[in-house]
Amino acid sequence: MYNKDNVFAKILRGEIPNKTVYSDDNVLAFYDVAPRARVHVLVIPRGEYTDIFDFTQNAPESLQIAFWAGVRNTVEKLGLRDNFRTVANTGRGAGQSVMHFHVHIMSDERFKEDF
Ligand code: AMP
Repeated sequence: MYNKDNVFAKILRGEIPNKTVYSDDNVLAFYDVAPRARVHVLVIPRGEYTDIFDFTQNAPESLQIAFWAGVRNTVEKLGLRDNFRTVANTGRGAGQSVMHFHVHIMSDERFKEDF
């Protein structure tokens, strides 16, 4: 069940400030307030979806397509085409703390050496 009081809903309503990286009618991307990588950005859809399961099951196709285009545009804007990770923590068990679907984009020099 989506809770309209979650912090990302407040950001979308303009009630809490954010450092925007990319924005359009369907998507907002902004810097994570507690970065865990050299670059750490969150991408969220402008819609009420709790997690990736809710989003992929219930969001209109047009919004799903627009969301991934927003991820791509954000990555391009950050200049990370060749060095980034996406993470979508899903559920409390996986550490999801904000119940508004979001994808983390993270980039760090050391990623190049991890695998
Ligand atoms: P998750 O743990 O996957 O749900 O990720 C939620 C993320 O939101 C965490 O990395 C937090 O640091 C980040 N976060 C929480 N509040 C804010 C905020 N007001 N602005 C930017 N990022 C936030």
